[in-house]
Amino acid sequence: MFMDFINSYQDLIKSYAKYFNDNSFNQKIAETNIQLLKEKKYVITDEIWNIDEEQNLRFIFNLTELLKSYGKEYIKDVENLWNTFNNDIPFSRQFTINVLQNKHKIIFDFAKDKGLSNDFITFFSIFIAYPYREAVASFVKSKSDSYRIELKNHVSGFCPVCGHDASISYLTEKEGKKIMACIHCGTYWLFRRLKCSFCLTEDKNALGYLNIEDEKEVSAYVCDKCRMYLKTIRIKDDDNVYAVKWRAIIDYLSSGDIDIAAIQNKYLKETILGTRFNGPNDPNIELYLNKLQNKITEIDSH
Ligand SMILES: [Zn+2]
Ligand SMILES: [Zn+2]
Repeated sequence: MFMDFINSYQDLIKSYAKYFNDNSFNQKIAETNIQLLKEKKYVITDEIWNIDEEQNLRFIFNLTELLKSYGKEYIKDVENLWNTFNNDIPFSRQFTINVLQNKHKIIFDFAKDKGLSNDFITFFSIFIAYPYREAVASFVKSKSDSYRIELKNHVSGFCPVCGHDASISYLTEKEGKKIMACIHCGTYWLFRRLKCSFCLTEDKNALGYLNIEDEKEVSAYVCDKCRMYLKTIRIKDDDNVYAVKWRAIIDYLSSGDIDIAAIQNKYLKETILGTRFNGPNDPNIELYLNKLQNKITEIDSH
């Protein structure tokens, strides 16, 4: 059922390829922002979007129809949302912009107002925004070669394209690589294995992982210093990740049990709608990157 939804959703996005790829964001800004990758920041800034009111509304309509046919238990919520968007078309555009600009507080207030759960509005928002962000991610991938920027060299806790923290990560058995995945834009990148991607500690006593019984592949890699955790899946080699389109979102959504276990053990789950840094020019990103840099130099000099 869920895979059927994902397949239909994928087809839906394909049918809007022209809008998302060519018109929904400002390519000049994207091209300029690619330079931010050299500073190890990320590409998507708030002013990058060009949202067409009509195309956006139509896409929301098609998405709500899909959700209605695959998630019968959400029909009421989906209809309620659709009526709101259809009765106020400028608002429907603003809603998409709010999601794309990571305004999760506004979105949760709206959900509360409408009697919708945070989980529901979170995934609804991710599905609305995904093709917009993925279009920028594809653009970045196609251009970064000509700028000699290796996306793979981005070693950080946040996504090099959209700035969200990794939603899930993969550990490869063969090479011991830690591959980070972003479910907001479909980007993968690398991170160091024995380091917390949130607070950057390498204190072995603070880092660990927890599993649930009978489930050895999926773990929560936890940090006792900042109490954050990252869902992590053990795989043979990286082919397993890159070969299946949307593997990360599928894994993310089907591994809810480990979230429950992590929360029961008093680890923190932050909303995945927001970003830690308020755009690539947030001064806090510099602090984070400096800390990351110092740690790397420290290790290299040993
Ligand atoms: Zn991303
Ligand atoms: Zn930490």
